[in-house]
Amino acid sequence: MAEPRSTTTGGGVRGLVLFPALVFLWAASFAAPLSPAQGTGSSELHVDSQRLQGTLERLSEFGRNPEGGVTRIGFSETDMAAREYVTGLMKQAGLEVRVDPAGNIFGLRAGSEKLPTLLFGSHIDSVLQGGNFDGDVGSMGAIEVIRALNDENVKTRHPLEVVIWTNEEGNHFGLGTLGSGVAAGLLGPEILDRKDEQGLTLADWLRRYGQDPSNLTDARIPPGTLAGFLELHIEQGPNLDEAKIPIGVVQGIVGLKRWKCVATGSANHAGTTPMNHRKDALAAASKDVLAVRDVVRGEAGRQVGTVGYMRAEPGAINVIPGRAEFPVELRDLDAEKIDRMWERIQDRFKETDREENVETRCTALDDVSPARADPAFQAAIGDAAESLGLATMDLPSAAVQDAQQIAKIAPIGMIFVPSRDGISHSPEEFSSWQDIAKGAEVLYGAVLLLDDRLNRN
Ligand SMILES: [Zn+2]
Repeated sequence: MAEPRSTTTGGGVRGLVLFPALVFLWAASFAAPLSPAQGTGSSELHVDSQRLQGTLERLSEFGRNPEGGVTRIGFSETDMAAREYVTGLMKQAGLEVRVDPAGNIFGLRAGSEKLPTLLFGSHIDSVLQGGNFDGDVGSMGAIEVIRALNDENVKTRHPLEVVIWTNEEGNHFGLGTLGSGVAAGLLGPEILDRKDEQGLTLADWLRRYGQDPSNLTDARIPPGTLAGFLELHIEQGPNLDEAKIPIGVVQGIVGLKRWKCVATGSANHAGTTPMNHRKDALAAASKDVLAVRDVVRGEAGRQVGTVGYMRAEPGAINVIPGRAEFPVELRDLDAEKIDRMWERIQDRFKETDREENVETRCTALDDVSPARADPAFQAAIGDAAESLGLATMDLPSAAVQDAQQIAKIAPIGMIFVPSRDGISHSPEEFSSWQDIAKGAEVLYGAVLLLDDRLNRN
């Protein structure tokens, strides 16, 4: 696709800062004007990687743990202080800032035409003992994109809006993707009476954040008002890091289904019951665990399946277990594949029942449908990366994301940058400044490509 930028000035100088080996050249450029050759190729960035690093480092101070990383759970004093910092940055960048009744922070940059808003951003809350990149990269990256557009006086057709979603991790109130869930109309006033560990309700916390909880449903984003939502995020898995590929084009966020299964046999004396007379529920459930793994491994693809625990009753050393309880969880981007795997797993459970003389019943627990990224958004991300000479990998998000909720009301796209060793939700979480800058630059390019391509008559 063609050059995504409306204007190109000065990007070469900032681009060079990214590569330490070229800092000498960069310094020399003060003495001599830049030759055109120095500003071409992948070193030409519009975002300022040092400025972006600076905001990420400052943000990391809110809730910093002595052992490294951060604890900045949603609805906490540290979260509140960090929100103030981020709100200040947004105002400095000339954005018109508002906070909705769910606590989501929005910053608007006007467009030149009367069109739906192109939204992008992430979250700044963390898990307990979390890292400095999950959510932060996409939040600071979004603000950096606005600053880069301002530096270059770029006008867009669509209004652009940065968003910082509230309580994505859900460590507080057990409600993950809270802000985006309310915005998408999936959560409502029923959540307001939930209490935290200190007995404070969600309504209390929203009031502390300056909001009137009785207006919660006003945070719903009316259908048709968004051109779409883009999120830059760390992968939180090993795929990009292992393949040494800087940009992931997210195909969608995987769905999941969960069941609770109970194998019922009969409890009996471990000494006097002959082996061929037993109805051993634990032995049967053990076969079932391996059957889940066999079925999930039996197809090509990135699907995963897990049995997370097992409880045997009565649980005595000298009694044959009469009851064994275990869950089954399946995740994939393709809902039909999840259903197909579950059919096969149930067939295997029936086989086990016959062999072991037990009865296994499963009841459905959770059903979260996959959220597909919009093809136009995936194309814009891929094209933006290509124009920078950056290799890409198409992959699903195996972790829950705010974009999953927003997909219910608008087209979405996500850009992943590598997570070292695939580690996240840990102080060990790490993405390089270079990779972060590349991700922010792809966000910049994708925003402009979508602004150009969407809503043409
Ligand atoms: Zn996140």
